[in-house]
Amino acid sequence: MDIEKLKNAPVAVTGCGEYDDAGIEAILRAQFAAIGAGEEFFRGRRVLLKPNLVSAKDPSFAVTTHPAVVAAVFRIVRDMGAADVILAESPGGSYAAPFLNKIYAATGMKDLSEREGLPLNRDLSSRPVPFLGKKLNSIEVIAPVVECDVIVNICKLKTHSLTGLSCAVKNLFGVIPGIVKFEMHAAYPELSDFCEMLCDLDMTLYRDHDILSVCDAIVAMEGNGPTHGTPVPMGRLLSSLSTFALDVVAEREAGIGRSAKYLDIAAERGIVKRDDGDIAVVRVDVPEEPAKLELPDSKKGNSFSMKILASLPNLFGGRFSRFFEPRPRINKKKCVGCGNCVSVCPQKTIITVKKKGKRLAKIKRGDCIRCFCCQELCPHGAVDTVKNAIIRLAH
Ligand code: SF4
Ligand code: SF4
Repeated sequence: MDIEKLKNAPVAVTGCGEYDDAGIEAILRAQFAAIGAGEEFFRGRRVLLKPNLVSAKDPSFAVTTHPAVVAAVFRIVRDMGAADVILAESPGGSYAAPFLNKIYAATGMKDLSEREGLPLNRDLSSRPVPFLGKKLNSIEVIAPVVECDVIVNICKLKTHSLTGLSCAVKNLFGVIPGIVKFEMHAAYPELSDFCEMLCDLDMTLYRDHDILSVCDAIVAMEGNGPTHGTPVPMGRLLSSLSTFALDVVAEREAGIGRSAKYLDIAAERGIVKRDDGDIAVVRVDVPEEPAKLELPDSKKGNSFSMKILASLPNLFGGRFSRFFEPRPRINKKKCVGCGNCVSVCPQKTIITVKKKGKRLAKIKRGDCIRCFCCQELCPHGAVDTVKNAIIRLAH
């Protein structure tokens, strides 16, 4: 891993208004040439395509990477002489065959596989790899990650209730199998720790692989992403050999300010230049004005109040400032008591109770770490975000 190369990697951004296979393929071929991911990057190598398939949603919801983008990448990689290509992902829930089959079918990957001959991963084993980070010596990753030379990280641009942005860096969190992801939230309960871990994870993967990131921002997601926001046309495709540089430019193109804390951490570590003016950007047919995506409820209007809170001493073991942070709240009208949130909560702080003959989820607030996994993985959109009353008054 060459840090200087990573730090100076250019980003390509091209205007693209629709999911037209041929148009996307032509754009990506030009982008790959412009950023230095030509034939030599793929020839004779084992390539893993890693889209964002966080939940079993039709592509029109903009929760997952659109199959037209994955298909275009596959055709290019195959034409450039890759020895093997496979698609793999560990979605947001359990990493088990029935769930994965449902994901492949709903997200259009099954059709794509049948149409184009792209193999979908069926090996549900995972392997430990030495981790370049604090707290953990090793982490589990899904088997195809260990078995490939190149990862093509095909992410979706979305706002995110916890991290502010879900794009290239966060998409690689999906190499961690199933519920181990929730254990990672428990191991890194503070947002800053979790963001450090995301940077460590990307650097661990860069140590062992070449990584090309492609971002589907043709239709992005705004609001309560990564699964319950609103699709919004953004008309852009982005590519880079640096996940970090791509996200800095994506943040600017999305018009969401400096929402992604993990990019501040990456900049402090010297692995990305935080101002996109310092990054070489190849822009083709892109509107000058950013898209101005709406932030998640958990991040809206927070900056001033949260900066003051961040400057307060870390009283009561950090619980003092956490008390003021936005928290999840069960929407009793929408909740059907399915218990999905109970199984994904890393703090085991959700139970279901019977109320007036109806089963409902209930959050025991004291232990909640505000990770918003419950919101992300509730199939019924029944987890709202509520701000602390004092912060609401401050606005
Ligand atoms: S909040 Fe959502 S996931 Fe949890 S029990 Fe209710 S409907 Fe199910
Ligand atoms: S209740 Fe929700 S936000 Fe709180 S720790 Fe559990 S999953 Fe995370």
